[in-house]
Amino acid sequence: MWKNRVGRLVSGIGGYPDPLPGTRRIPTEGMRVDLFEYQGKQFFGTFGIPVSPGEPVTTVEEAVAAAERLATYPVVVKAQVHVGGRGKAGGVKLAENIDEVREHASNILGLDIKGHIVNDVWIEVASDIAEEYYASFTLDRSAKKHLGMLSAEGGVEIETVAENNPDAIAKIWVDPVDGLTEEAARDWVAAANLNPEANEGAVEILTKLYTAYVDGDADLVEINPLILKPTGEVHALDAKVTVDDNADYRHDWDAYEVTQVRDEREQAAHEAGLQYVGLEGSVGIIANGAGLAMSTLDVVNQVGGSAANFLDVGGGADAEKFVNALTIIDNDPRVKSIFINIFGGITRGEEVANGIVAALGQIDISAPIVIRLDGTNADQGRAILEPHLSDKLQMAPTMLDAARKAVELAN
Ligand code: GDP
Ligand code: MN
Repeated sequence: MWKNRVGRLVSGIGGYPDPLPGTRRIPTEGMRVDLFEYQGKQFFGTFGIPVSPGEPVTTVEEAVAAAERLATYPVVVKAQVHVGGRGKAGGVKLAENIDEVREHASNILGLDIKGHIVNDVWIEVASDIAEEYYASFTLDRSAKKHLGMLSAEGGVEIETVAENNPDAIAKIWVDPVDGLTEEAARDWVAAANLNPEANEGAVEILTKLYTAYVDGDADLVEINPLILKPTGEVHALDAKVTVDDNADYRHDWDAYEVTQVRDEREQAAHEAGLQYVGLEGSVGIIANGAGLAMSTLDVVNQVGGSAANFLDVGGGADAEKFVNALTIIDNDPRVKSIFINIFGGITRGEEVANGIVAALGQIDISAPIVIRLDGTNADQGRAILEPHLSDKLQMAPTMLDAARKAVELAN
């Protein structure tokens, strides 16, 4: 499937507000696929990054059986959810024997960690820890480079370190064309002031982590904590990996897909092949093109409203796309009005208008709709829509007018 590639909208750009706590940081490039820790460790393992052996389970009995197979104590019983801070929430427990495995697995399965219910648990051979560090790679869009972060203060959330002791984070910007050279990795590690005993192992792991990030088509790879063992080895004790779904054609990511926890709206949209991200506002958005969809969110926001979603219907104008898009948006109880923002390009205005009219003939939409249609053959498109206009289907001449109208209807 062809997918649009667009820049991720970061907070503050175009006046878009910070996401609400617990919500995501919106429009993504295609779909991001978050891996569970154990999947992240398997992913790391394929790139030669040392991780602990373990087994994923979904029941207490399986947990016990897995611990018996691992046949060494202590083991760690770890909740698998797409959210950090599991340790603090009681989702990571050391078990010294089989009874403790049973006890911790029963407590952790079904646990609610920041709104994520635990259905999967990872049983792992426990490691001895001398020191805990932090390491990650992600993309710095404004620098157009990959950003590596390394800190001797691991085990706590990096945001906390960034706030309390920003100097404790050693950063490296890697030009994707040059890659991470060994010399640069060495300087970076030296700047982080780890225990000197960890330096050699850290350079090796970080080099592999960079390869995993690039060749694995990840948007984010994070190891927190990266540990130094008392025996001197450096080892990944946690794994946070997000891969870019645009690259799924060159990987076998079916197993990650199965464990995705999407909200119902996102699941339905994903199945319909729509570029959709659920948000918390009240104006449903449909636009053709990801850039226009993002601008639409900004404009709705600018006139005092808030979007219930990001949705790019893409090119083309078949009725089925609009049926799917409108149905998914209208089924969302947050949605009080719908703003369809179309700029005719290769797909001409009258084709889109016909698609919308055909779709509205097939389904019953309860929220009032405001359409802005511009671009190629916009006049013809508007003429097609004209006879269908009513309180429930309005048209506005400009994007700003349409946004105002949609926000007014939503309020
Ligand atoms: P998070 O809280 O979701 O980030 O989960 P982590 O996998 O990072 O585990 C949280 C904390 O549990 C770590 O920072 C460690 O201090 C501790 N922990 C996890 N695994 C082990 C282990 O194998 N041995 C020991 N001693 N502690 C562990
Ligand atoms: Mn962690």
